[in-house]
Amino acid sequence: MKIDRFELRSAKFLSRSKFLSKWVAPLAVLAAALLALAYPGPENRSGVDGVATASAAPVPVSETTPDIGVGRPVSTASSEPVASADMLGLSGKLRAVMGTSDALVQNPLLKPLLAEGSEGAWPRLLTPGGDSFTVVTLVPMAEARSADYARYHVGSWPSDGISGTVARYAPPSGFIGVTQRNQDTKVSSNFEMRDFLTHDQGNVWPKVLVLRPTILDKLELLRVELEREGLPSRLHVMSGFRTPQYNALGVGEGGRAGHSRHMYGDAADVFVDANQDGMMDDLNRDGKITVADARVLRAAAERVEEQYPALVGGLAAYPANSAHGPFVHVDARGVKARWGS
Ligand SMILES: [Zn+2]
Repeated sequence: MKIDRFELRSAKFLSRSKFLSKWVAPLAVLAAALLALAYPGPENRSGVDGVATASAAPVPVSETTPDIGVGRPVSTASSEPVASADMLGLSGKLRAVMGTSDALVQNPLLKPLLAEGSEGAWPRLLTPGGDSFTVVTLVPMAEARSADYARYHVGSWPSDGISGTVARYAPPSGFIGVTQRNQDTKVSSNFEMRDFLTHDQGNVWPKVLVLRPTILDKLELLRVELEREGLPSRLHVMSGFRTPQYNALGVGEGGRAGHSRHMYGDAADVFVDANQDGMMDDLNRDGKITVADARVLRAAAERVEEQYPALVGGLAAYPANSAHGPFVHVDARGVKARWGS
């Protein structure tokens, strides 16, 4: 809550101060000029119009009017930096760059933005197409136990065995601090941060989220592939990031892996839900919702991997059970892995 209010206040302050610095000065000049035209000073009342106008506007209006842009659309677009192509991913649909502050400042485009936005609000860029693009500074993982985040329990990432020898299983170095206010930040064209939050501790904010751009890229490309095949493409994320604590609840029962990629932020259990009934759609059009529909989705993901080997990872189709309908696990771990039905 403390963070929420702080962010709210600082965001309000920022937007207000931006507004002030950008508009108040030129607007005041314009208002002064208009007032002077309507109510010429006493020394001009007897003068001819032309003289009155010229002398009643001592402010250098001509210097400020180009900035006000009379007749020009009111837009700040021209002054906002544009995200570079590599920041948009293989899909071209990433809408956020996420990194530790040390990593982000290495990018010359981001460095000045990060210096400006040190008040806690995430700086924004634009995509070449005009979409908003967010620069998300990750919170160092050590702060997951700090006063701000300690109420949200995450458990511990494994540090033994494979976690000590294989980089992709090392505990994440940072996380996204998700608040009620920023949870709807777009991370790609069709996904928001909230889609990937662990489904626990609903009332505890802020939350810890680990999310990697590779899974976002892969899901966006999966949508494109489904569309190419003439299938519905709206993907619902049934389960994205899982904190180690949450993941541990299901290990051994439903077959959750002890080193599940869900804990590392590059996995998602998804189904196609164009009709938004909370269930997989009938992708093979056999009149039934079964694991066969999940296999259609998995086959589309296979084709994405064939086209984009950098996004290779785990794929598995699951049948329905009493808790959920059929779905597909997709991850971008960097090596091919297959299991499931
Ligand atoms: Zn999964």
